[in-house]
Amino acid sequence: MDTKAFLIKYGEIGVKGKNRYLFEDALVRQIRFALKDIDGKFDVTKESGRIYATASEEFDYDEALEALKRVFGIVGICPLVQVENEGYEALTKSVLDYFAKRYTDKEVSFKVECRRSDKRFEKSSMEMNAELGGMILDAFPKTRVDVHKPDVIIHVEVRKKINIFSEIIPGPGGMPVGTAGKAMLLLSGGIDSPVAGYMIAKRGVQIEATYFHAPPYTSERAKQKVVDLARLVSKYAGPVKLHIVNFTDIQLAIYDKCPHDELTIIMRRYMMKIAEKIGYDSDCQGLITGESIGQVASQTMQSLYCTNEVCTMPVFRPVVGFDKQEIIDLSYKIGTYETSIQPFEDCCTIFVAKHPVTKPNLNIIKKDEKKLDGVIDELMEKAFATVETIIVE
Ligand code: ATP
Ligand code: MG
Repeated sequence: MDTKAFLIKYGEIGVKGKNRYLFEDALVRQIRFALKDIDGKFDVTKESGRIYATASEEFDYDEALEALKRVFGIVGICPLVQVENEGYEALTKSVLDYFAKRYTDKEVSFKVECRRSDKRFEKSSMEMNAELGGMILDAFPKTRVDVHKPDVIIHVEVRKKINIFSEIIPGPGGMPVGTAGKAMLLLSGGIDSPVAGYMIAKRGVQIEATYFHAPPYTSERAKQKVVDLARLVSKYAGPVKLHIVNFTDIQLAIYDKCPHDELTIIMRRYMMKIAEKIGYDSDCQGLITGESIGQVASQTMQSLYCTNEVCTMPVFRPVVGFDKQEIIDLSYKIGTYETSIQPFEDCCTIFVAKHPVTKPNLNIIKKDEKKLDGVIDELMEKAFATVETIIVE
């Protein structure tokens, strides 16, 4: 393949005024991260308002493309043929060669669009458009020119080097991770929370995660599944610091002392409290959950009102208005679905009541929570003291 570089197009971040360079630098960093384990020894550079990823060795084209498709902030990926600027004569050969390798057999309509940042170059853009178009027509008689709605646009850019490209592959959009602060994702082994993390990371937010496990009620494999999900999220979000909280004793205390129809709500309140504290300690500015209104008893408006009450940090619930199927579709698209549906117990499913309250009353919940006085502070201390933190990438 003659493609040795990619030209990266970015949209939204182009309009950030004075802070533009911060966004570009973050994007460069994320692209480097995405390409670091891929053959090709890519050099990622910023050059007069453009970002290029250039391979210095052979590489797997599809693999590199897949990696770039996961970098938030990229709106388009243009596989690029780059040749030295050795004058117009050499340029025409390169353009014909480019076309021949890609479009000879097809009866495509095309137009040539030249841009010249080197104004000393011997031809103007208009002259080149016309001449190169004519040459392609002569060389490949099945093609035709269409300046309004061509099948392909052959872009030829005269810069320090000559860039030739015709394909713009869509990127994921969004903003480069690291440009919009940091949030703590409550990551379970389910379908919803990895999707929620993906959606917030897409807006440029760095993600940390907290998982509550309850050994021996939940298995090592359930924990491994969450680590695997964090790794899948990290393919988009960059390295994820994952905090694993041993929640068993707190759950048992709630089970022991509180009305069973309120177990889930009270448990969720403690999860939020703990995640928020870990979040504050790691400089997060928000929490993220995969809650969606009405999905289960603990996600009615009344239930969300009760769980939300323990937090002062904003809680982001990006899938709150989605139907389950819409969340599933997204999880499929981002590649977390297969892992999410592995059948390992998650700590919530073991301690659930047969008939949980669907319209909890905050005053009653708070009154019943009082029954934990005397034990809960110590259990919370212990939970914080035994947090296991790993970096997943
Ligand atoms: P998911 O598919 O994301 O697990 P769910 O449909 O199972 O969600 P719940 O179990 O009510 O719904 O959980 C709601 C949200 O609470 C989850 O999306 C997640 O953000 C958080 N959560 C639930 N269980 C855990 C856990 N064991 N560890 C961390 N966060 C959790
Ligand atoms: Mg769950």
